[in-house]
Amino acid sequence: MSKALGYAALSPTTPLAPLSFDRRALRPDDVSIAIEYCGVCHSDLHQARNDWGIAVYPLVPGHEIVGRVVAVGAQVQKYAVGDRVGVGCMVDSCQHCDACHADLEQYCLEGPTMTYATPDRVDGTNTMGGYSDSIVVSENFVVRIPDGLDAANAAPILCAGITTYSPLKHYGVKPGDKVGILGMGGLGHMGIKFAKALGAEVTLFTRSASKAAEGRRQGADHVIVSTDAEQMKAAAETFDFLLDTIPVPHDLNPYLETLRFDGVHILVGLIQPVDPALHAANLVLKRRVLAGSLIGGIKETQEVLDFCAEHNITCDIEMLDIKNINEAFERMHAGDVKYRFVIDMATLKA
Ligand code: NDP
Ligand code: ZN
Repeated sequence: MSKALGYAALSPTTPLAPLSFDRRALRPDDVSIAIEYCGVCHSDLHQARNDWGIAVYPLVPGHEIVGRVVAVGAQVQKYAVGDRVGVGCMVDSCQHCDACHADLEQYCLEGPTMTYATPDRVDGTNTMGGYSDSIVVSENFVVRIPDGLDAANAAPILCAGITTYSPLKHYGVKPGDKVGILGMGGLGHMGIKFAKALGAEVTLFTRSASKAAEGRRQGADHVIVSTDAEQMKAAAETFDFLLDTIPVPHDLNPYLETLRFDGVHILVGLIQPVDPALHAANLVLKRRVLAGSLIGGIKETQEVLDFCAEHNITCDIEMLDIKNINEAFERMHAGDVKYRFVIDMATLKA
């Protein structure tokens, strides 16, 4: 075992504070990673505050991890000391179910082991995430950061990137498709870039009229201010796909009405009951589909990193000193981040 230092929530109502804890001794397939950067996902805030009712404390958040390999277990084949690598939202799965065999570990039939707040499959201890100086992970759940990507900018690809890339690929978004991205935060700004790179005509739906110019700078061809009923009405039956990153319950009906027949509304932001209720006519009368999507498998996570390197796609980040993490949570809650905080883990030593 080795000692790690991190930032943890001790309850849903206490701010994150420094915590010293143990990282396990290397198993044969483990790599030990010195963490350089970790992105701050809205899920970290949901979990720290127990919005989903599944948090386990102490809770060290963080699942957009980039660092250097500093040690490898006896049977590790893919990585060597010095390699720059990443860890996303999962650190293990059963590896033998249909989903795992299909490279969809996030849908593991026995449940994936998430990077934090989940019992480890071997020793039962609670997993601890990347707001820390080190992590120990099976090489099967580690990805390689391509040389062409900046390490800090690459971190959010491990969650915000893969979560938006995976459904666009799954539903076969292609040149000419009309895609709407709902909400421009960490996930949404990456969704715009991926939909554009796949050749779609992209529209940003945002609450904030002030984000219109920014949305276009990110690559959106059009911007709809979602709080303007006239603008929403004018977009009726326009889109093939909507990628919905809004993190709180919201009325889906006006958005569904902007889909063409056979259009697909993909939820990634909402993991709570839909409220207000969905009017089934908005699906039935146009054969529309309401879908959901969870991150992406390990193979696809490597694919999206390589895709970003190839297409010159990076995240817009604001570098964060870890001692300001609680203020960063408040700003993220208020929608005041362009568009992802990334913790510089060197600040942890200070
Ligand atoms: P951010 O906070 O960075 O962005 C969310 C955006 O949604 C905001 O920028 C804002 O965009 C819009 N928004 C925020 N609050 C509201 C509101 N009250 N009503 C309408 N729109 C709102 O969050 P992330 O991008 O990091 O995460 C988004 C969601 O996705 C979170 O719930 C997170 O837990 C979830 N998630 C899901 C994953 C999955 O696998 N399915 C993986 C990772 C995250 P604007 O100002 O443009 O309207
Ligand atoms: Zn995330």
